[in-house]
Amino acid sequence: MKILVTGGAGYIGSTTCLALTEGGHEVVIIDSLVNGREEYTKGYSFYHGDIADAQVLDIIFKDHPDIECCIHFAALIVLPESVSNPYKYYKENVLKSLELFKMLDEHGCNKIVFSSSAATYDVVEGFKVDENSQRKPNNPYSRSKYMMEMVLEDMAKATNIKGLALRYFNPIGADPKMRCGPYDPNPSHALGKLVDVASGKDPVFCVTGIEYETRDGSGIRDYIHVWDLARAHVLAAEKFDEIFANENTEFMAINLGSGDGVTVYEFIHAFEEVWGEEINKDTAKPRPGDVAGAYADCTRAKELLGWETTLTTAQGISDALKWTNRYRKQKLGY
Ligand code: NAD
Repeated sequence: MKILVTGGAGYIGSTTCLALTEGGHEVVIIDSLVNGREEYTKGYSFYHGDIADAQVLDIIFKDHPDIECCIHFAALIVLPESVSNPYKYYKENVLKSLELFKMLDEHGCNKIVFSSSAATYDVVEGFKVDENSQRKPNNPYSRSKYMMEMVLEDMAKATNIKGLALRYFNPIGADPKMRCGPYDPNPSHALGKLVDVASGKDPVFCVTGIEYETRDGSGIRDYIHVWDLARAHVLAAEKFDEIFANENTEFMAINLGSGDGVTVYEFIHAFEEVWGEEINKDTAKPRPGDVAGAYADCTRAKELLGWETTLTTAQGISDALKWTNRYRKQKLGY
């Protein structure tokens, strides 16, 4: 199948492009390179442009009228930045995705897989959430994801589009074959920050929020290896028609997590086990937009996609360390 991947130069998008190619699919990438890496687009049909640029979309569909499905990763993703600059996040993530969906419909590409987030869930008792759990995004980034799910659902009802929202929990790691991986020199996610402390770049890892109602007071997460996440997208594209034929709906959401709730302290401990040394750590108040967190009920992913995780948290940590300390320099030069 020929698949348009927006944000294919990014962390999850580039990994998914590899998994799609290994699965025998043809990938067309559109990415503005506002983030992401041009190196990750090599070997694919790549269009350097914005997802809301009608001219670029026209050219893509003229060149590739046989694109059947769009996997829409392109977005800005830094939660604290979205709190300080909500306009930017609503413009980039909401307005531009809205335009993209309209253009996809006009070009007859009506299978849309959308990158959503577990950050759209409310904090629930026991922290385990299924797709029907209460939603309560509490920062502009998460709200932009929630809004786009609603937009996709409404557009799917009114047009030929069908929308599949994949709600990711906490992606970690790198391509196990070390072809791509996280590229941000100043990562905002926990594992990137731990790697920076381990490699001596940062002096201390700060646990933000230690008074949550979890077993040790730190936040709860559900870490998922990025390769497992990428594989889920391949299955989502392949089983798209089957899912919608069986479920009699135009819009569907699926959780993608490991199903294991891990606290931030437990994650640090897992990191130290893999790294072989203790990490210098400190504590601080939650950052704006931080919440206790959630972990996934993955029943639906198993039923509809036939998917579950195969790689462990330890493998994710080990791949991230290997990538950042050895292969990133080789591939990206830093
Ligand atoms: P990333 O920043 O590495 O990748 C995003 C890519 O989109 C970048 O290459 C960037 O250049 C591109 N892009 C952004 N705006 C664009 C635009 N207007 N036009 C064209 N290209 C544009 O991020 P990621 O971690 O790979 O995340 C991918 C998706 O997954 C995002 O939608 C994000 O919200 C979602 N998600 C990520 C996480 C996570 O922890 N990384 C968790 C849940 C959901």
